[in-house]
Amino acid sequence: MEKQEKIFIAGHRGLVGSAILRNLENQGYSNLLYRASSEMDLRNQQEVLEFFKSEEPEFVFLAAAKVGGIIANNTYPADFIRDNLMIQNNIIDASYKFGVKKLLFLGSTCIYPKFAPQPMKEEYLLTGELEPTNEPYAIAKIAGIKMCQSYNRQYGTKYISVMPTNLYGPYDNFDLETSHVMPALIRKFHEAKENESSFVEVWGTGNPKREFLYVDELADACVFIMNHYEENEIVNIGVGEDISIGDLARLIKDIVGFKGAIRFDSSKPDGTPRKLVDVTKLNKLGWKAETSLEQGIKQAYKWFMDNQL
Ligand code: GDP
Repeated sequence: MEKQEKIFIAGHRGLVGSAILRNLENQGYSNLLYRASSEMDLRNQQEVLEFFKSEEPEFVFLAAAKVGGIIANNTYPADFIRDNLMIQNNIIDASYKFGVKKLLFLGSTCIYPKFAPQPMKEEYLLTGELEPTNEPYAIAKIAGIKMCQSYNRQYGTKYISVMPTNLYGPYDNFDLETSHVMPALIRKFHEAKENESSFVEVWGTGNPKREFLYVDELADACVFIMNHYEENEIVNIGVGEDISIGDLARLIKDIVGFKGAIRFDSSKPDGTPRKLVDVTKLNKLGWKAETSLEQGIKQAYKWFMDNQL
């Protein structure tokens, strides 16, 4: 990407899109294009086609998606599969119709089988059954990957798909009903400290393990891949290390400075037992994560304090 080329960031108000926008601005990209959802509904094919026709973006970061934590995915499966399929179909097809040079599609590690060997290599896609709590979302993301690859094969496009591990950071969703575990626990421990509560409730058994990547690092990896990768195959983006939910809760508790207890609510689902990605391919391309989990949580907590209260 040249600094003055026109780059469309779909989903620029979300966790991922806002980080990509910050990264591009910091690197001096000057022709950035984005629209609020009130201005353009990405689920509406006509609106998307008209936007591509009039703006003719040269590069596209497809970071717009309907996302949510384990309970949200489990409660609104129809919304997750429909909205994601509509958004990605519209943007990928409009990119083809209006000659986008390169597109980067953001997937998710939930596309891998529930019981995939760990760490999960890119080739494990479609080798086993998915985790049921987020299967509709995962199926939409798999369709997005296959659509990018099929367009590359049939039309000679350059559409890349990346699979980020669990993300956190500025502009995350801190709503306890719909958020992922990291922002939920930051809020829960902070509020428990403020209210001098005696305990914090953590869903599930605390045994599942998850890998967490600070979102500004993900954005940096995405821009790097857009500039240095052209293959058809998907690329994992992660740190290569994971932590149990119990240990994560203890770490957040210490960072926030909550003095009470942690209670595990095993009536809530655990989800996939483990979700660690193999980042060999990404590292070989020349990119490696640098922010430690502790440092990242401190930054995310600071952002929450500065912005959410
Ligand atoms: P997942 O990675 O798709 O399973 O999604 P989540 O980030 O929502 O959940 C990850 C793990 O954290 C699951 O085992 C949850 O049960 C657990 N967890 C513990 N406390 C919470 C909480 O307050 N909110 C959420 N979303 N998950 C929690």
